Amino acid sequence: MDISNKKLFKQQCFINGEWIDSEDNQVLEVNNPATQDILGTIPNCGKNETKIAILAAEKSWTNWKSKTAKERSGILKKWFKLIEENHEDLSKIMTFEQGKSINESRAEITYGASFVEWYAEECRRVYGDTIPDILEDRRTIVIKQPVGVVGAITPWNFPSSMITRKCAPALAVGCPVIIKPASQTPYSALALAALAEEAGFPKGTINVITGSAKDIGFELSTNPIVRKLSFTGSTEIGKILLKQCSSSVKKVSMELGGHAPFIVFEDAEIDAAVDGAMLSKFRNSGQTCVCANRIYVHEKIYDEFIDKFTKKVNKIKVGNGMEETTISGPLIDQYSLKKVQEHIDDAVNTGAKIATGGKLHSLGGTFFQPTILINVTKKAKITYEETFGPVAPIYKFSSEKEVIEMANDSPYGLASYFYSRDIGKIWRVAEALEYGIVGINTGIISKAETPFGGIKESGLGREGSRYGLDDFLEIKYINIAGI
Ligand code: NAP
Repeated sequence: MDISNKKLFKQQCFINGEWIDSEDNQVLEVNNPATQDILGTIPNCGKNETKIAILAAEKSWTNWKSKTAKERSGILKKWFKLIEENHEDLSKIMTFEQGKSINESRAEITYGASFVEWYAEECRRVYGDTIPDILEDRRTIVIKQPVGVVGAITPWNFPSSMITRKCAPALAVGCPVIIKPASQTPYSALALAALAEEAGFPKGTINVITGSAKDIGFELSTNPIVRKLSFTGSTEIGKILLKQCSSSVKKVSMELGGHAPFIVFEDAEIDAAVDGAMLSKFRNSGQTCVCANRIYVHEKIYDEFIDKFTKKVNKIKVGNGMEETTISGPLIDQYSLKKVQEHIDDAVNTGAKIATGGKLHSLGGTFFQPTILINVTKKAKITYEETFGPVAPIYKFSSEKEVIEMANDSPYGLASYFYSRDIGKIWRVAEALEYGIVGINTGIISKAETPFGGIKESGLGREGSRYGLDDFLEIKYINIAGI
């Protein structure tokens, strides 16, 4: 891998402060989705190695939770500084294994690091409460304590920030973590672990284990020592993990799939809405949980919006993410490519028209043409299922009531967006959308300071902001009598 700091490219797991192979020395290969080159291997670990990591984390807990918030904050700040110092190498590792453009990788490393910095600051403000008691001789206080050992399972579409978004708050409040990254993008996780080691986290506090998702996931979700499972990934796997977690009644956070509506009202600034739709839809080649999946445009501005949007989409440069001018990289694998093509074919068969794109890109592999579908109907699969690709389906609407009904007609409830300059409508629609996140006159909504998360089948819990700390804390009520 062409990076300056070779120490960041690790092909072993990090457990109890040691770099280790799997028990039976079995490995999995990791490839570059842009070239199909094999980048390297990772240990194919399973239940036994996971148990070892869990015991190591448990052992480290007593020491880690008893450090002062200031001490933990200091180590997190060092980690943040090291991430910043190795920013370019971390960005390259991400583009090599994930395929996204190098500029998007740079933005993700900045975004991911922001959680480490923010929680290094915020962990010093884990305040409790005092509650006036009803009895004269009593005093009541509420304190917050770390939940314990945390299992963190993360997806391939944001290989670095999905780790820091859950692990920074967990570590900050005193919880040790065992990270299971996606098998397609493990090197970003292992590079973060290498920097955590250098930052001085005590051994066992941060562990990264790679290999069989089913076996590692089963152990992390059923072992009673793990007190919290934080998962980011598909709703399908989230439901399996929720069931497994019930056996030991674990605290859970589930950041699952999304199917974001993106509404452009007749009073919107059309150019701004087009720019917002470009960012929201085509970032990471459409492979984000907050991507605009259904674009609803008012009938009065429908043609103008499509015309402007199509011109911009036709300018997207598709290519190997390592080329500075690339905007859109390849899809992660053939399975994703097949799903994208299926959604397009099905939409066309149910009445939609292709305004641009619609096919495999001339570069071959898993490169796909940025696509716009118009006049999409309710019957199309794309109207209800996450596509996870560079396909923008556009729907026409005529009233506020109608579009809210269409927007809410989904089992998902993660992100939603709309464009309007009418303050009354802004309040009405923001309150009516059944989503955890509403972006108004913007296509980008993620930041460390704000609570990210969904309702309905998009998940449970929040990441980012002060609410993100609560997910790793237990509340203890203390009642003192005989004062
Ligand atoms: P996925 O297939 O659910 O995989 C996510 C993680 O779960 C990976 O580490 C995977 O490991 C692991 N996994 C797979 N099967 C498992 C099992 N039986 N038990 C335990 N772990 C298991 O999702 P993905 O395809 O990587 O990611 C895309 C999905 O994530 C989309 O639905 C997207 O919307 C969602 N997402 C949500 C958010 C959010 O914040 N709400 C953010 C990003 C992505 P392997 O890689 O080894 O299979």
